[in-house]
Amino acid sequence: MSAPITQDVLTIPRKLPEGGRMNIVGLTRDQLRAALIEAGTPEKQAKMRVGQVWQWIYHWGVRDFALMTNLAKDYRALLADKFEIALPEVVTRQVSADGTRKYLLRIAGGHEVEAVYIPEEGRGTLCVSSQVGCTLTCSFCHTGTQKLVRNLTPGEIVGQLMVARDDLGEWPKQGAPKDETRLVSNIVLMGMGEPLYNFDGVRDAMNVVMDNEGLSLSRRRITLSTSGVVPEIARTAEEIGCLLAVSFHATTDEVRNKLVPINKRWNIATLLDALREYPRLSNSERITFEYVMLDGVNDSDEDARRLVKLIRGIPAKINLIPFNEWPGAPYQRSSWDRIEAFADIIYKAGYASPIRTPRGEDIMAACGQLKSATERGRKSRAQISAEAAG
Ligand code: SAH
Ligand code: SF4
Repeated sequence: MSAPITQDVLTIPRKLPEGGRMNIVGLTRDQLRAALIEAGTPEKQAKMRVGQVWQWIYHWGVRDFALMTNLAKDYRALLADKFEIALPEVVTRQVSADGTRKYLLRIAGGHEVEAVYIPEEGRGTLCVSSQVGCTLTCSFCHTGTQKLVRNLTPGEIVGQLMVARDDLGEWPKQGAPKDETRLVSNIVLMGMGEPLYNFDGVRDAMNVVMDNEGLSLSRRRITLSTSGVVPEIARTAEEIGCLLAVSFHATTDEVRNKLVPINKRWNIATLLDALREYPRLSNSERITFEYVMLDGVNDSDEDARRLVKLIRGIPAKINLIPFNEWPGAPYQRSSWDRIEAFADIIYKAGYASPIRTPRGEDIMAACGQLKSATERGRKSRAQISAEAAG
């Protein structure tokens, strides 16, 4: 594995652009306040204006300053002159036979990322991307074959939720009775990219999403999935406080080095130490261990028993993910009998061990299948197999 593990990627500056208009979406309250003052809002009024604009955008879903009727007309004109309320552009929207919706979104620079909406009984989960591509090269992951292009801005992350709410017609109607049913009730940071290598962007975006006067999703309805960026795990607890999932996938360092190469930097023991602290630091309950079932690679009874031993003492749920195939993938999905036998050992040891039903496979929207077709610099099949073997 030679790909560098760095955070040395481009982020878009948040200053008021010369001439152009600044996008409000994704600014934290403090940043919005500073931007409104810079644009000429008197300091004394700034806090109130932030609250008003915030509600229009994130509670009501309004995109046009002219419709912000509790603001003076000339102030609306000033805002329209200096700011915009811009979302990623929807390039395509595919709807799976099972109702899953996959959005291909175009962002600044012409890059493309995907977001996936998964409707379930009584809830709906939006799977959000945090980067274009990924610096990591997990050998079973389609996104990992695409080089990292850049981190998403907070606005591009929040924008994925807003696009989904637009498509689902989920903004509240003014005057209508308050409807508590939410179509997008949960967010998982499990799309393209490693969220903890875009820590600040993800943190700011989630703080916008969690804000009570806006999108208002509770931190317990947000799950961040990491491949194991150990130094950022405690910060995630402290600065975001969401639920944590970890891409565990193997029970020995030897196998995990191959599947999740970041393991060479932070091995299983180091990762588990960080995870042990997480529930206390974040005041949350269980950690989700994600475990992709790869035929003959990590799916033996012995693996299941080792897994249970390793995580002893950590409040956990183990989410077994049947491997989702993609063109050129060097692995195969374990058989259903094998997955069930594995689940059974874990269950008998006292852990919930749900098997994740693949959703949206017909539109390549399932876990690990996301990848923007337009990005260049992808690896060849030969390269993928060589890395998986070595
Ligand atoms: N980078 C983060 C989040 C994105 S991946 C992470 O690695 O955790 C989201 C989940 O999908 C991870 O658990 C990942 O291991 C899993 N995944 C990736 N490729 C997959 C595939 N082909 N089949 C099934 N799950 C996969
Ligand atoms: Fe990146 Fe996660 Fe895929 Fe690994 S599994 S390559 S960390 S997106």
